[in-house]
Amino acid sequence: MPFTLAIVGRPNVGKSTLFNRLVGKRLALVDDQPGVTRDLREGEARLGDISFTAIDTAGLEDANDDSLQGRMRRLTERAVDMADVCLFLIDARTGITPTDEIFAEILRKRADHVLLAANKAEGRAAEAGVIEAWGLGLGEPIQLSAEHGEGMSELYSALLPLSEGFAEVAARTSEEPDLSLPVSEEADEDGPAPTPDKPLQIAVVGRPNAGKSTLINRLLGEDRLLTGPEAGITRDAISVTMDWDSVPTRIFDTAGMRKKAKVQGKLEKLSVADGLRAVKFAEVVVVLLDAAIPFEQQDLRIADLAEREGRAVVVAVNKWDLEEDKSGKLAALREAFDRLLPQLRGAPLVTVSARTGRGLDRLRGAVMRAHEVWNRRVPTAQLNRWLGEMVEAHPPPAPGGRRIKLRYMTQAKTRPPHFVVMCSHPDKMQDAYTRYLVNGLRADFDMPGTPIRLVMRGQG
Ligand code: GDP
Ligand code: GDP
Repeated sequence: MPFTLAIVGRPNVGKSTLFNRLVGKRLALVDDQPGVTRDLREGEARLGDISFTAIDTAGLEDANDDSLQGRMRRLTERAVDMADVCLFLIDARTGITPTDEIFAEILRKRADHVLLAANKAEGRAAEAGVIEAWGLGLGEPIQLSAEHGEGMSELYSALLPLSEGFAEVAARTSEEPDLSLPVSEEADEDGPAPTPDKPLQIAVVGRPNAGKSTLINRLLGEDRLLTGPEAGITRDAISVTMDWDSVPTRIFDTAGMRKKAKVQGKLEKLSVADGLRAVKFAEVVVVLLDAAIPFEQQDLRIADLAEREGRAVVVAVNKWDLEEDKSGKLAALREAFDRLLPQLRGAPLVTVSARTGRGLDRLRGAVMRAHEVWNRRVPTAQLNRWLGEMVEAHPPPAPGGRRIKLRYMTQAKTRPPHFVVMCSHPDKMQDAYTRYLVNGLRADFDMPGTPIRLVMRGQG
């Protein structure tokens, strides 16, 4: 069963050009099909050996200015809801516009999987736009030239794991549910847990001057990185490998990538982008805060990015040696964290001093535990027993008088934990009920702080 990919973005970024390239002559116009308006073009697309259905949301240029925003929004939302994956196009030559930000916001809220692509990326005129695109917080932009056919292999590489994931979920969900399925028979598609030759991958992210380099130096036990009081100082190291109390660990530093910040004014934006790049590599992301100025916008964004990228998150509050009212401050930080980042509720929060080395053992404990939770697999039988109890305590909604039936639940993936709930009318399920289940999973299976993915699927 092929998946559906929606190509979204503001007018003129090159959606139709890309659609035509992917679909070629296999285009099927779907004007007459119920539920699909004339605005959405659909076609059978192929990229290498991946087949999928592509939806194009172009064709809005006729709308007059007044209604354009609203129509664009509605159309995009409809396409997003129809799609398994959204390919969000921006124009790398123009850079990020306010309208792109609006689209990014819709996608963040609504889409399951978003791939970001910077189109018109042929040639040097596109470089600044590509860097800006990192700042959207939707991951690494795939550089494309729809017109010249460049970047198609990158697009392929980005689609492949998703395509395999959908095929796997489809295969699993078409099996007869067997509630007594023993755990040991479930294949672990993610392979074995890290072994001595496969180090634990950590990224230390945070604002300039939070103390990232000081922390990494301290862990390494030598001054291998340069630290200094100037924000944004440039350094070389990108990753360092070490034994963290006998656990082989690779730490990604975001500082070395800061060299790209050639333009002074762009520093703030770039360090978010740099953090993101490191987040991509990591299994566990340590968000390092300065105790004196915790949870600034940039810290929140990075933690949120880490969550959206599906990484385990540990928050380390640095420069604790300077703090006077330690217990009062800690309670306030905990409260602020759970309020500002509810999607990471209960994530470990550890106070440290990179300068004196205090708290680093606790940080290590929190990182190892977060990694374990992130890798955890909950047995299917246990999940279904749990689902029964949750439904009994709180029945799902009954839109239009017909109660949604939750039939079966399984964990489709780890790193981070992904769950699939088979149900009637998944489209009518309310977010609040999904949140109820996610929070329940977190609490009952002791999975604090790790991103939890839960999707509702219909049968058939
Ligand atoms: P849509 O409105 O998003 O569907 O955009 P179109 O596909 O109609 O493209 C808008 C304009 O951008 C057209 O003039 C295209 O020829 C041009 N365009 C599309 N892709 C590229 C590209 O990769 N590079 C350049 N330079 N122009 C492109
Ligand atoms: P980075 O930009 O995040 O890599 O931050 P640095 O490691 O360069 O540190 C910025 C400044 O904060 C330096 O002057 C450090 O000496 C100082 N610093 C880092 N960690 C601590 C800490 O735990 N306590 C105190 N008092 N200062 C710290």
